[in-house]
Amino acid sequence: APARKVVGRLAPSPTGAQHVGNARTYLLAWLHARLQGGRVVLRMEDIDSPRVKPGAAEEAIVDLKWLGLDWDEGPDVGGPHAPYVQTDRLSLYRQHLELLIERQLIYPCTCTRKDVETAASAPHLDGEPPPYAGTCRFRSPQDASALDTDKFVWRLHTSDQPRTIIDLVRGPCSMNVARDLGDFVIAKGTGVPAYQLAVVADDHAMGITEVLRGDDLLPSAFRQLELYEHFGYQAPQFAHLPLVVGPDGRRLAKRHGDTRLSWLRSQGMKAETLIGWIAYHSKLLDELRPITASQLLGDLRPTMLEQIPAE
Ligand code: GLU
Ligand code: ZN
Repeated sequence: APARKVVGRLAPSPTGAQHVGNARTYLLAWLHARLQGGRVVLRMEDIDSPRVKPGAAEEAIVDLKWLGLDWDEGPDVGGPHAPYVQTDRLSLYRQHLELLIERQLIYPCTCTRKDVETAASAPHLDGEPPPYAGTCRFRSPQDASALDTDKFVWRLHTSDQPRTIIDLVRGPCSMNVARDLGDFVIAKGTGVPAYQLAVVADDHAMGITEVLRGDDLLPSAFRQLELYEHFGYQAPQFAHLPLVVGPDGRRLAKRHGDTRLSWLRSQGMKAETLIGWIAYHSKLLDELRPITASQLLGDLRPTMLEQIPAE
């Protein structure tokens, strides 16, 4: 296959403030694309509307600029461009949903959260919901027309076969989506897409060739592979980064103190200090094999050794 021009992306969810963990992901995603002469796309992932916080999208842009990151395509880049805000892209997701309906690859599921939990028997992966037991699998897409749109979700018939990705950070990883994760939600009955559908439609439409993100999303890469296959799209290169953890080894949370970028900024922290701290504490260099130390750290080292933020 001909080499594809590298395109990376920054994909903040404006469901709350961006914190140190997000900063680390953005830095790496940006750096990895730029080091290969690639383009960077900024996309606001705001389809999870009940959880979207007013002002959070604007603040995420301020955070990215404070970190010194830039992008070639996205919400505030001048000139004509496609919308890069997911709520402006619902028709694209709708077309993808209709394709899955036409091919009978999805079915309406009327189970409540409680039904799903009660029916689940398979053990589930850490941080993932229990695999869906398949209660509504007998339904055809046509059965949806007899249901209230707010009374069901669309689930994908997942395939019972091992899938493998070669992750840039984790190396080869395998999962069987049907067995390990189960039929997952593609959209609400109203047509509002779930994250899995929107991210695949967008990453393809935007020509994204590499996806760097937290490794809490590693199982989702396998879900997304199912969709890439159904749509006949080439999947991007994945890189799942270990999450930033607190001193107790647990995923960064409120109990570890306030790590919102807006707060650190208000305390007078310089972006360089944070970048140096992130580079030093997260063993960046071990994680992304294509980046060499001299390329990456350059003149960051003196800064970080002098001014490590208080923990
Ligand atoms: N919007 C997601 C987040 O902020 C990232 C999704 C992705 O990278 O695929 O966690
Ligand atoms: Zn169901």
